[in-house]
Amino acid sequence: MKAVICGAGIAGLALAWWLERAGWEVLVVERAPERRGAGYMIDFFGPGYDAVERMGLLPRVRERARDVAGLRYRDGGGRVTGRLPYAAFQRLQDGRVLTMMRGDLEDVLFEALGPRVEIRHATSVEAVAEAAGHVAVTLTSGAVERADLLVGADGVHSRVRALVFGREERFLRYLGYHTAAYLFTDPEVAGCLGERTEMEMLEVPGAQAGVYRLGGDVCATVFAHRSPAGSVPEDARERLLEVYGGLGWLLPDVLAHCPPSPRLYYDEVAQIEMESWTRPRVALLGDACQAVSLLAGQGASMAVAAACVLAEELARDGDPVAAPLRYEARVAPAVRRKQRAGRRAADWFVPATRGRLRLRSALLRMAAVPSLTWVLKPVLTTPADRLSGLDPRLSR
Ligand SMILES: Cc1cc2nc3c(=O)[nH]c(=O)nc-3n(C[C@H](O)[C@H](O)[C@H](O)COP(=O)(O)OP(=O)(O)OC[C@H]3O[C@@H](n4cnc5c(N)ncnc54)[C@H](O)[C@@H]3O)c2cc1C
Repeated sequence: MKAVICGAGIAGLALAWWLERAGWEVLVVERAPERRGAGYMIDFFGPGYDAVERMGLLPRVRERARDVAGLRYRDGGGRVTGRLPYAAFQRLQDGRVLTMMRGDLEDVLFEALGPRVEIRHATSVEAVAEAAGHVAVTLTSGAVERADLLVGADGVHSRVRALVFGREERFLRYLGYHTAAYLFTDPEVAGCLGERTEMEMLEVPGAQAGVYRLGGDVCATVFAHRSPAGSVPEDARERLLEVYGGLGWLLPDVLAHCPPSPRLYYDEVAQIEMESWTRPRVALLGDACQAVSLLAGQGASMAVAAACVLAEELARDGDPVAAPLRYEARVAPAVRRKQRAGRRAADWFVPATRGRLRLRSALLRMAAVPSLTWVLKPVLTTPADRLSGLDPRLSR
């Protein structure tokens, strides 16, 4: 059996891992000319955590986790206004939470792949044709691959989705925010952040900027701000300077390092909602079909778990027509719950007014007391935190 997977992100690499172990020949095509960089910090918990444990990769994922004690919030001038200690979050997740760079999780998955997975960079899918007994995938290189299954794991702006299911506008729900991230090296900023392991979050109504010292003089940033326009501005760097340029504390020094795209990651915050994301011999996976957005904080986790479910369904009867349908049916309810929760949590993560910022600070103070941690439960956990029925027979 042969699979073509479009996208060497977390979803694509996780599925490649499972399929290779099940004896498939796997070709992964990736648009980027080389392995992507570290990206941004993610909290990894819930179904994806369970899935990497089942894959036997939890020790390697743990090795790449960062020591983050929590979030420390500051106002526009740098005054500390509140803290979210990760101990509270850990308690809510029974200690099964890791904080890491997205790229580090991708690295672990990539390094675990064997020789039967071929990865072709600077390559995408040009056309897809369903044929009797196979799917014909024309690549941008001109090559035509005859496969049993094509999987679009190519993110929110999926090319496979556009080719097989239709235009992005039909499926993309814009949530009213833009987000950005980049890494930079600056001994002075790193020195000011010191050895503390809290992520510093500078925020004003409708916008927040996070800075974290990754190690040595390297720092990671993440930004999220309200924006009525969904489309990404032509000059993303300029937009970032416009929104955050007036804020104080370390931010002017941090912004001085802002690179142009593509080293600057900048995108709209959106969810992908589809009635159905499989066709005979074609399936979407990860953000391409189930993006929950950074506001829900479990996109990477859900992507790894969904890859596990798709692999399990393919292993059940080896039927690339029926298995994707069963995979979709198992994953869809959890995705919808998580998406609803993400939309509800938006105002918690980026409060729109000073009053709401103050309210959140008060809740954070309460949550720091162990017996009152439960006040955070509605925003930090949802019923979608587990995907049931992952089959242990697939573990190594
Ligand atoms: C700022 C931020 C914070 C986040 N925080 C968290 C968090 O705390 N916890 C969490 O679980 N999730 C978090 N997420 C979400 C998480 O990063 C995504 O859900 C996850 O990366 C999705 O993985 P994916 O493999 O489906 O898609 P992607 O990571 O988007 O990977 C898609 C891959 O496909 C490639 N590609 C794209 N287009 C094409 C094409 N046309 N042809 C070939 N290849 C293509 C891309 O280069 C990429 O390698 C966060 C996201 C953001 C932006």
